[in-house]
This record gives sequence, structure tokens and C-alpha cells, in this order.
Amino acid sequence: MKYIHQTISDLMRSSPAQTEFYQAVEEVLNSLAPLLEKHTHYQQQAIIQRIVEPERQIMFRVPWVDDDGQIHVNKGYRIEFNSSLGPYKGGLRFHPSVNAGIIKFLGFEQIFKNALTGLPLGGGKGGANFDPKGRSDGEIMRFCQSFITELFRHIGPTTDVPAGDIGVGAREIGYMFGQYKRLTGNYDGVFTGKSLLWGGSLARKEATGYGTVYFAECMLKERKDSLNGKRCLVSGAGNVAIYTMEKLYQLGATPITCSDSSGTIYHDRGIDLKLVKQLKEKQRVSLAHYAESYPEAIYTEAAHYPEDGHAVWRYRADAAFPCATQNELTLMDAKALLTNDCKLVSEGANMPSTKAAVDAFIDAKIAYGPSKAANAGGVATSQLEMAQNASMQKWTFEQVDEQLKQIMQNIFISSSHAAKEFGHEGNLVLGANIAGFRRVADAMIEQGVV
Ligand code: NDP
Repeated sequence: MKYIHQTISDLMRSSPAQTEFYQAVEEVLNSLAPLLEKHTHYQQQAIIQRIVEPERQIMFRVPWVDDDGQIHVNKGYRIEFNSSLGPYKGGLRFHPSVNAGIIKFLGFEQIFKNALTGLPLGGGKGGANFDPKGRSDGEIMRFCQSFITELFRHIGPTTDVPAGDIGVGAREIGYMFGQYKRLTGNYDGVFTGKSLLWGGSLARKEATGYGTVYFAECMLKERKDSLNGKRCLVSGAGNVAIYTMEKLYQLGATPITCSDSSGTIYHDRGIDLKLVKQLKEKQRVSLAHYAESYPEAIYTEAAHYPEDGHAVWRYRADAAFPCATQNELTLMDAKALLTNDCKLVSEGANMPSTKAAVDAFIDAKIAYGPSKAANAGGVATSQLEMAQNASMQKWTFEQVDEQLKQIMQNIFISSSHAAKEFGHEGNLVLGANIAGFRRVADAMIEQGVV
């Protein structure tokens, strides 16, 4: 365990103030202890020191002009973390909270998540501390063009393939692709999450949410149970949350909450998904408007959240699907869920549960699907989009969805097997970390010290 302490204190010295990154590294290293004790060659090859250091970090200025002629400057990032299994792959996040530590934690997680899919994908992540809220289409377009005017020289269909994340959907991908094409003259699969009109894959938009629910179904099947008839808490109201709710309904479960940065909706008879899509995908307005259509639904403003926790996790339900953002589920929230008899947590967002919350779920032995396994369906389907682009083919929704389901099952099986192999049956945090790490580390060793 000495190496964990040593690694974290080295990172704190060399990369100061990156709290979320240390949190992600610590979780992975804690899980790896049984593997590293048994197979000492990983330590001899200095794999830990190499894997926590990104291969390349690109930071750049993003200047742009708003509709009133005012000049703004944001910080842009792309962290190309690890390419031992394939081209760097991971989304771009546009949110005011973005900083180097957040992008680094996301990129680090992405390495192991991508490895777990079994597909040829390296790990990377990027974004900007740009707030798209309240910006016009023209402002979004000019920001995206400026962002790509720098980033275009670092990405390509066989080097680094970005996708969406918080604040980046099909509209932003469209503007970024347009600028990339103008600068390079290339029409290639350099982004995933593209519009269906020009190179996107059917079922990519749905994939992360659907995959998180497929993963939950795998965990329940192992316990001789299913989602049918279950009442579910969902946080977030963006891409991942919406398609998590859609698949829950399809499998006979009922999502009774959703949330956004302004507040939480609780609707006892089940969330009206059509209305949420209208408010968040089309109108891009706050969930406060949901309550205008349904006076019986309870709306809690973000400001009214309990001090150390979130309103969304305080309702009684069988299962929870955190789909908003990192550290949105604290120890207090985890205790409330367990007290209310919640038996399953499947993470659509990246690292949504704090370390203490994760420990509480593992101790309680509920079905807990950590994000790097449970939400890997998004990136896996991005790889299916890359495969369609490279072969100039277009697969049906059913073909892509069937492959997604199979990949989620495989991730569940490899994580469960690794947990069992190292004496921690049922602990999918440990299993997913070991299974993902082993694939990357073995490739790194075979490729030499590079
Ligand atoms: P979206 O931007 O589509 O939606 C994010 C949702 O979370 C919105 O409802 C947003 O509220 C809410 N939210 C974001 N930040 C905060 C915050 N600090 N506090 C409260 N609410 C917040 O993003 P996605 O759905 O794509 O991403 C959600 C999560 O899933 C992220 O953790 C992302 O990294 C992860 N993920 C996404 C994948 C994808 O394919 N898109 C793949 C794998 C993981 P509001 O509407 O008010 O902005």
C-alpha cells in the first residue's frame, strides 16, 4: 500500500490542486493491490508511474466574440492520456467548472473504461471552461470554431477521436466538424456523436443511457431479479439521464425523479419523458417548467438541497441511476438510499459517487455498477460509429443496439470474473479496475518503454 501513498503525494507535488484526479487515481490503485502483489512485474516495469502521467496535455486559448461584439477568452484542454490500445478516445465537456484536474480525472477513467469494452480504443478527454447556457446558436458556433482552430492539428480518425460530454451534443459536434473539415479539407470520422444526416450512427445518442440500464439488468439477473416493476431514482436531465429513463420504461421500470442544475423533480406516477425531452433537448430550459404542466409533481430548487447531499436521493425507491455529474452522490445520500431500501446503483455519470458513498454501497453488498463499467456503452457505440465510417457502411438501430447489449454483458462478465479471481466476489469496482488495467498494462509492457 506504500506505493499508493507515494504515487498520490508525487502527483500532488507535480500536478497541484487536481483533487478529482487524485480521487480517481486513488480508487484505481486501491483496487489494484491484489493484482500487483500477485504479479510483481507490473511494479518492476514502473507501470503505475507511467500510467498516471498523460502521454500529452494540450492547453490553449479560445478567444471568441459574442453577439454584442464583446471579446471573451476561455481555456481549452485535450488530454491524450494513453494510446496503448488504440487512438485516444473520449468526449469534450463544455462547462464553467472545467479545469485541468477535472479533464485529467475524466481522461484517466476513460483509459480503463475503454479497455473494458474490449475494443481498440485509447483514452483521452477534453473540453473548455465555457458556459453554453443562455448563448445563441451563433455564439455557440463561433466558440466551437475557435476551439477547433487550435485543436484540429492534434486530432484525426486514427490519432485522437473526440465525442460529446456535458454541454456538447450533436449541435456542437456539427460546428466543430465543419471547422475541422474547412481547415483540413478532410471528410473523415474524426468525431463521434455526429448527426444521422452525415456520418452518425443510429443508437449512439441512446447508447450511454441504454447501456447503463443493460448493465443494471445484468447485475439483477445475477441476483435472480429484474428491473420489471422497479421504482427508480434518476439524476440529471441531459443525454445520459433521458435515455436511461427511456430504457427503464421499456423494461417495465418507472423513473420517478430527474434533476438539473436548477432543481429536482419528483413525480410519483412516473416522469413524463416526452415533456423532459421537449424542455431539455428542444427548448433548452430549466426543469422548473415541468411543474407548470404537472402541479402534483414536487419540484425542489437546488438551493433547497440538504446541506451535505442532494434532494434526488432522498426518495424511497428500489434503484438509483446517477446521470448528472461527478461527486453528486455523497455519503449522506448513500445512507439515505440504503435506509430507504435501495438495492441497486448503476452509474451513468462519471464518478458520481464520492469515495465514502462507494464504500457504503460495497459494505452493504447492494448491486453497485461503477461508472467505468456501467456507462461504457457510450464509448463502445462510438467505436461502432468509427467502424461504420471507416467501412462506409450504415448499420440499423437494431444491429447497433444488439452489439451494445452484448458489450455491456461482456463488461459485466469480465468485471465479475476479475473480482472473483482476486477473492472479492461481487465487488465490481475492484473487478472493473483490475480487468481494465490488466489489458492496458500488458499492452504497455509489450510496446516497450515509450
Ligand atoms: P448533458 O450536458 O447532456 O447533461 C448533463 C445533465 O446534468 C444536465 O441535466 C445538467 O443540468 C446536469 N448537471 C451538469 N452539471 C451539473 C452540476 N454541476 N450540478 C447539477 N447538475 C448538473 O451531459 P451528459 O448527459 O452527456 O453527461 C452526464 C454525465 O454522463 C457526465 O458525468 C458525463 O461525463 C457522463 N457520460 C456521458 C457520456 C455521453 O455519451 N454523453 C458517456 C459516458 C459518460 P442543466 O441541464 O441545468 O445543465
